[in-house]
Amino acid sequence: MISRRKFLAGSVVATSGLLLNQKVSATAEKSSSSTPLKGKPIIISTWRHGLPANEVAAKILVKGGRSLDAVEAGARVPEADPNIMTVGLGGYPDRDGYVTLDACIMDEKGNAGSVTFLQDIVHPVSVARKVMEDTPHVMLSGEGALQFALEKGFKKQNLLTDKAKEAWEEWKKKSKYEPVINIENHDTISILAIDANGDLSGACTTSGAAFKMHGRVGDSPIIGAGLFCDNEVGGAASTGMGELVMKTVGSFLVVELMRNGMSPQQACEEAVNRIAEKIPGYEKFQIGYIAINKAGETGAYCIHPGFNYALWKDGQNTLTDATSLFKK
Ligand code: ASP
Repeated sequence: MISRRKFLAGSVVATSGLLLNQKVSATAEKSSSSTPLKGKPIIISTWRHGLPANEVAAKILVKGGRSLDAVEAGARVPEADPNIMTVGLGGYPDRDGYVTLDACIMDEKGNAGSVTFLQDIVHPVSVARKVMEDTPHVMLSGEGALQFALEKGFKKQNLLTDKAKEAWEEWKKKSKYEPVINIENHDTISILAIDANGDLSGACTTSGAAFKMHGRVGDSPIIGAGLFCDNEVGGAASTGMGELVMKTVGSFLVVELMRNGMSPQQACEEAVNRIAEKIPGYEKFQIGYIAINKAGETGAYCIHPGFNYALWKDGQNTLTDATSLFKK
């Protein structure tokens, strides 16, 4: 529940939001010209694996490329890396030994594509883009998503590496589903970028919670939960225990809070506070949000210390610890 004090504080923020919206429309006007905006391009992504993802995305953006191409190319980096055990190839399997992948993507026009419960395809983010661009739908799932991917020329590949199989066999000895905060079983890559034209896109891709129930789909492919972009306002994305994000429609919430005048940092904090207010037992889990607004300001916040994000700005790519609700 929002207290009266918080509500009053919120209305001050909302007033400044009107100002922000005015600034935003000035930016939107400029974005139709080809002149690069000051401080752009800019890329923010989750966790350490965001660093190499940002590098690849930046190569596209510094040449004047589109943010959609940049976020897709960035997300494909950890997807193809067998050593990253939370995304794509090498991802931890579910409790029955199947690697099942979730991903989504959004462009600057508000178009969205998503795949859930996809198996045997290394790059679900690219399949999600095809869903967005080549179908009248937003989301394809399971067998249907696989069939569509194969029709589009994606190749089947076994994604279960020996390392992931060993970890699963070790887990099977106890077979206890216990999500552990911040260790390698929750590390989706979410990536948001603004290109030189000032246009925003985002992508999110994951193998989901390690050793999850067969068929479980998390927040990452759900538009509004794992990712949301609105080219007039900004974008947000999440990582961590997806059920908490889905129940609070986290990324949409962050964007709407920014629309009403909050900074990206304030909006991420409020979305984590919402989880704390609404979800009993939330403190056993980790959630991290990242956000960016059209002015190129960024924010990040999490429940527990340990979540970090990669920010590419002014040619520098840096990894920063997000601030958190609980302190060390
Ligand atoms: N959010 C993802 C999920 O719940 C997991 C993660 O971020 O690693 O599927």
